[in-house]
Amino acid sequence: MDVLSHYSSPVIEFPASQPLEKQNALVDNCTGTDPPPPSADVATETQEKQNAATQTEQFCSSQSAKYDERALAKWLRQICPQVEQELSQPTPLLDEQETSQCALQEQLQVHTYQNLSMASIENSQGLAIWLSVHTNNAPVLVATTVAPHDDWCEHMEQQLKLFVPQRMSHGSFVAYTEAKALPLKSCLRSLCTNEFNKNIFAGATMDGELFVWLYEQARGGIDSSVEIKQLHSVSSTQGAAVALDWVTEQRLLACYANGTVLQWMVTKQMTLDWEYSVPTSVGAELTTMLSLGLDDIVLGTSCGGVYRCWSPGRQPACDRTSKQLQLLPLRKHRFTVSTLLKTEMDGHQIVVSCDLSGQAYYHDMRHEEEDTAQLIVQIPLPFKNAIACSRDANIIYCPSNDGALEYYRVSDGAHAHVKGALRGRGNLICISDNGCWLITGLYGNEFQIFYIENNSSD
Ligand SMILES: [Zn+2]
Repeated sequence: MDVLSHYSSPVIEFPASQPLEKQNALVDNCTGTDPPPPSADVATETQEKQNAATQTEQFCSSQSAKYDERALAKWLRQICPQVEQELSQPTPLLDEQETSQCALQEQLQVHTYQNLSMASIENSQGLAIWLSVHTNNAPVLVATTVAPHDDWCEHMEQQLKLFVPQRMSHGSFVAYTEAKALPLKSCLRSLCTNEFNKNIFAGATMDGELFVWLYEQARGGIDSSVEIKQLHSVSSTQGAAVALDWVTEQRLLACYANGTVLQWMVTKQMTLDWEYSVPTSVGAELTTMLSLGLDDIVLGTSCGGVYRCWSPGRQPACDRTSKQLQLLPLRKHRFTVSTLLKTEMDGHQIVVSCDLSGQAYYHDMRHEEEDTAQLIVQIPLPFKNAIACSRDANIIYCPSNDGALEYYRVSDGAHAHVKGALRGRGNLICISDNGCWLITGLYGNEFQIFYIENNSSD
């Protein structure tokens, strides 16, 4: 088990990833068809049984029946507690966690589904988002690759690719096929689906441009054509937006490393709605952001800071574009905040923040005065670059090396592994809104698509 450090708050830790062979062995133990391993006998003190055996020998050596019954009663008294214990714990070597691990892999089967080749040589990172569902519960996918950057982007021939799930002629399967490639004059820094209209999405380029695109499917005909239409583009002097998010269908937030957050109104025109600058006391670059609603933002920083910025009420009308927000520091990470996720647990809004060490905090957004982040999840290294989580926030998915995937159940610490067959390190993970599809990357030139099959009864 990877124990990184000690924490004063309760920490959920997961055992380190195990080879698939060992996982299989555990599954076998669960089914209980195999005899218990020899060491199980040691655990249940079967030395007592040897005494019992000598007594039964006496029984066999034709002593009087009365004596034999006493011996038998004595033997039963000795053996009964052990038998009861054995029955109550049929596999003493299998602790609770291992049992739940078997259950996790059975209840939530994650299958490697398809590789997507991007046919680019020098690019090392990937960006991908899911759009609206197209067929068979499968959403349309937008993906691009990003070259390594020292400073200025000089990559004039990048592409944004649209992958559409096509129904296969046999069975109920779909296959993702490239339907469109849109040329880009610069690498993208971030991509974000409009959750209020999943045919619309936004992208921010390395050289400071913001784009809003519309995915369109021409109606009629079997081979209906698809299109990506550019709705808007604006330039900003802030550089590349490190994160984008949609507040409403027509409000786009862009977050910049220098501490600026811009809100754009996206109607027939794209106009700047307001601008917010984090106070200098934050003292670090912004790395990630998400929107919780109107004038309600969560920001993550390079120093591990997590801040909720929200409007306490009506703004003074004197300065229309410069936004005044209250800043509430949430529980701070030790390392750069790599991911912020918005989710719900028991009907409460939760923000999950994850840092580069793989430590995830669950912040309860009901607390407006302070943040205690009682729930801390420690994900074993090296699964730290990015996480995705299920709708109920109970499952955390992490891309691993060579196209593999790790997933963890927060409620009981169960951990499961999906073997990969690619090369390289994954830095991206994105889950579809319906919780059925995952994409990870970039592995060489390839993304990996996973299909999630939920077999639990609820
Ligand atoms: Zn570039």
